[in-house]
Amino acid sequence: MSDATIPAPSASRAAAAPAGGDPRPGLAGLAEDEVARLLAELGEPSFRARQVADAAWRSDAADWADVSTLARPLRATLAGRLRFDTVADTTVRVGDGGATEKALHRLSDGRLVESVLMHYPGGVDRRERATLCLSSQAGCAVGCPFCATGELGFERDLEVAEIVDQARHARRRLAVAGRHLTNVVFMGMGEPLLNLDAVLAAAAALTDPARFGLGARHITISTSGVVPGIERLASLRPQWTLTISLHAGRDALRDLLVPLNRRWPVAEVVAAARAYGRETGRRVSYEYVMIEGINDTIADADAVVSLLRGSGAHVNCIPMNPVAHTPWRASGPERIAAFAARLGDAGIGVTVRRNRGQEVGAACGQLAAEQAGEPAGPTVARRRELLVAASTAALRGERSAEPPPAGLGVAPKPGRARPKAPDTARQGAAPAVSRGAPDATRRGAPDATRRGARPAPSRTSPRRPGGTTPRGSR
Ligand code: SAH
Ligand code: SF4
Repeated sequence: MSDATIPAPSASRAAAAPAGGDPRPGLAGLAEDEVARLLAELGEPSFRARQVADAAWRSDAADWADVSTLARPLRATLAGRLRFDTVADTTVRVGDGGATEKALHRLSDGRLVESVLMHYPGGVDRRERATLCLSSQAGCAVGCPFCATGELGFERDLEVAEIVDQARHARRRLAVAGRHLTNVVFMGMGEPLLNLDAVLAAAAALTDPARFGLGARHITISTSGVVPGIERLASLRPQWTLTISLHAGRDALRDLLVPLNRRWPVAEVVAAARAYGRETGRRVSYEYVMIEGINDTIADADAVVSLLRGSGAHVNCIPMNPVAHTPWRASGPERIAAFAARLGDAGIGVTVRRNRGQEVGAACGQLAAEQAGEPAGPTVARRRELLVAASTAALRGERSAEPPPAGLGVAPKPGRARPKAPDTARQGAAPAVSRGAPDATRRGAPDATRRGARPAPSRTSPRRPGGTTPRGSR
């Protein structure tokens, strides 16, 4: 199938980021006792730890230079040891009449990640909210074809401070307008459960009253279905909300739309989510991106019903955000209404969401993709053809013959490395649509080595034409 894999990435992408980043840890990634230990090492009195914490979490300082509560020499010493902010540069685009702000953050190694801030005005029975959708990885290994981040491929995990600093930036911007950040959703770039240690530490910093101070119930983590990660989360009994990106109730279609389904089929994902709900007492919600003619029929709704009936789950139907290089578009309102009604009739809670922020670059991943440079026209055309062929095969009920994406962080499950696609070979085979390079060499980043299971960096993996994601843009 090598003829069907996607051509090499644009050279501009490979050239975009300087090698290596700033080796100093980020202040926002350290717990209070770690800061205290560092200050003690520097011979500072213990009350300095509180001053540093106030500067990090309670002030609008953006740099050590702004921390006037500390003497200049100490500021200089600390600046040599810790980064006050791990986000080197942020560009903000405002859309929806000011209701949506999309931020593109440049990290110290030149990589780009996005966050989206959404304002929801208060009403008679609800308070004003400001929700930040933040990124947990640069790129993503899962490779959902309707998602811009998936198209970028995996670059690297974000550090704890790089995750938290997206929220600190948003808080500073909101403070100027006299507003507060009320909610954080891990629905930006990346698969949070494939960077779970950092995500847990970031969530701890965001919900620690002595640090960022958000309520734990105001944190949502979204996953495409990393079953071991869901199980680990459940064992922690958190107060956060868990959201599963479902997008298809049938394996053949989900193999295409959410390629890690080839590793963890949808029934296993839903079973893990149900267990999470039982163990934590928290209602799990499901996201369902509606793609015209692909996953929006009554039969699709019935497949979701048979998976979720009686689970108390809630489904959010989201019209697919326009994605420049896929052949797909959002389902029409009538289709969405009929789909939602079918779920509702079966007793499943359902909400139809609207997209937000399309004019600011739609979704997480899109601005970063723009910066990487658009792929060439023929590459885009080829990508579209592949998706048409692959979706036609999936809609015939053929399981994907492709292996699960590389970099899921766990060894392939025996017997499932290549799910069977019984009729595919005979019927002329669904084309391969993955980014390819599953066996490419691993990057040498220390954390990757530790876990021993990271995929090749996307700089060397082909970039598919086709994704543009709007997570935060609803
Ligand atoms: N990787 C995680 C979290 C980030 S993606 C996950 O997949 O759950 C967050 C949400 O944005 C997911 O539900 C994802 O499917 C959705 N999304 C991605 N691309 C989209 C698009 N083009 N239109 C609408 N939603 C999209
Ligand atoms: Fe990754 Fe989520 Fe995008 Fe899929 S939808 S490619 S899991 S970020």
